Amino acid sequence: MSAKLFVLAGPTAVGKGTVAAAMRDEHPEIYLSVSATTRSPRPGEVDGVHYHFVSTEEFDRLVAEGQMLEWAVVHGVNRYGTPRGPVQEALDAGRPALLEIDLQGARQVRESMPEAVFVFLKPPSWDELVRRLVGRGTEGEEERERRLATAREELAAEAEFDVTIVNREVHAAVEDLVTLMVDSSSRP
Ligand code: 5GP
Repeated sequence: MSAKLFVLAGPTAVGKGTVAAAMRDEHPEIYLSVSATTRSPRPGEVDGVHYHFVSTEEFDRLVAEGQMLEWAVVHGVNRYGTPRGPVQEALDAGRPALLEIDLQGARQVRESMPEAVFVFLKPPSWDELVRRLVGRGTEGEEERERRLATAREELAAEAEFDVTIVNREVHAAVEDLVTLMVDSSSRP
């Protein structure tokens, strides 16, 4: 029997990436999808580990060949997508798989794989979300404003999800997610 797919989404800067990274380190038994993106690597990001960093031509090819389970333009700039093959292989091998993607992508997966479990990662408060976005310091003023506008819309989407996890602290959020994955995997 193939394993279950879990989709983790939530507003920008809520800490989805941090939760996913902690999941990779602490729970290697779970397959964490490596997305393809047209954005440039940030310092410390490794090709093939954090993302597959690809050219726009390569991204076009992956889409045209039907190799993307979902893809979206995020924050109005770069394209991000989930390569289908490795996710399917993990599921077929009985390994639960986790996608950390944006809301548009989650909606596409809801269409194509409605049996997946959709998890919304939520900040403890709006002020805390703003603090995290400003504190990260990786974006300029204009980009920060754009991401906050996206985040405000994304917060309103919580009701579309099966489960909400509040990200108060990264390890607690990881354990909440793992508990959910183990519990739902033992159910048909
Ligand atoms: P960042 O550039 O900060 O790494 O990520 C920006 C946003 O892209 C995050 O909200 C993240 O969830 C989203 N993202 C990362 N990978 C994918 C993907 O494969 N598909 C979609 N739709 N969004 C993604």
